[in-house]
Amino acid sequence: MRLILLGPPGAGKGTQAQHLVAKHGIVQLSTGDMLRAAVAAGTSVGLRAKGIMDRGELVPDEVVVAIIADRIGQNDAKRGFVLDGFPRTVPQAEALDRLLAERGLKLDGVIQLKVDEGILLKRIETRVAEMTARGEKLRADDNPDVLMGRLAAYRAQTAPLAGYYARKGMLKSVDGMAPIGDVTAAIDRLLSPAGPVKAKLTIKPATKPTRRKAKSAKAKGRAKKPRSKASARRAPSRRSKGRKSGRKARRAGRSKNKSGQVKSRTRRRLTKAR
Ligand code: ADP
Repeated sequence: MRLILLGPPGAGKGTQAQHLVAKHGIVQLSTGDMLRAAVAAGTSVGLRAKGIMDRGELVPDEVVVAIIADRIGQNDAKRGFVLDGFPRTVPQAEALDRLLAERGLKLDGVIQLKVDEGILLKRIETRVAEMTARGEKLRADDNPDVLMGRLAAYRAQTAPLAGYYARKGMLKSVDGMAPIGDVTAAIDRLLSPAGPVKAKLTIKPATKPTRRKAKSAKAKGRAKKPRSKASARRAPSRRSKGRKSGRKARRAGRSKNKSGQVKSRTRRRLTKAR
């Protein structure tokens, strides 16, 4: 299974990625984690990325694309992967499409965690407070000021990816503000073979509507077939055999009167002429 988790910083991508790893036996590929590892190891990529990351800006596309190209080719990624933090720009998404196509691989879905930005800031503040209380080392970019910059980068460069994948029919969205377990359950439902849309369709057997359609077409034909004037005079229609409708009854009465008048007028004229 090959998935992408899409959502702003603090949306819970990492938490959900871990669940997907355990459930599907795939690997989590987080470009943020890889870049932090490169920074810690002091590699050339790490040295290039450090300042950019600390400011909450995006590392150049070619750097992260090269990291991912290398990583998805490794053995542990053969069973599948969940991308967390990549792609983050449309050019990165296009590069990923090319990388997968070259290897004959396909994505199974893109899961978007939808969140309220105001609440995200509070979440990050809480996370920072909890980590500080536990004496854990904070990420250089885990502070509300830098988060504002990360959110701005997300809005400008990453949010358009939702449209990119929606146009390909791959985007699935979940409410990222729900409790963690609910978000996990919603993602599982989206990924299950009998997803919500398919489940609905199985309620109605495919034969019923077809049969109903055929009947109604017949009925329509019968109703529309006009009766010839002659046949209308010869025999009353099945409907008019019984009780006549008010309008019909009035019309019938009038015609009787009319024919009576014509007869009597003609007779009068004939009498005058004589
Ligand atoms: P977040 O918590 O903001 O989702 P990540 O751990 O995914 O953060 O990434 C931290 C930082 O690493 C980003 O702010 C950015 O500077 C850099 N980074 C991670 N992934 C990418 C990427 N795909 N493209 C560009 N920069 C990236």
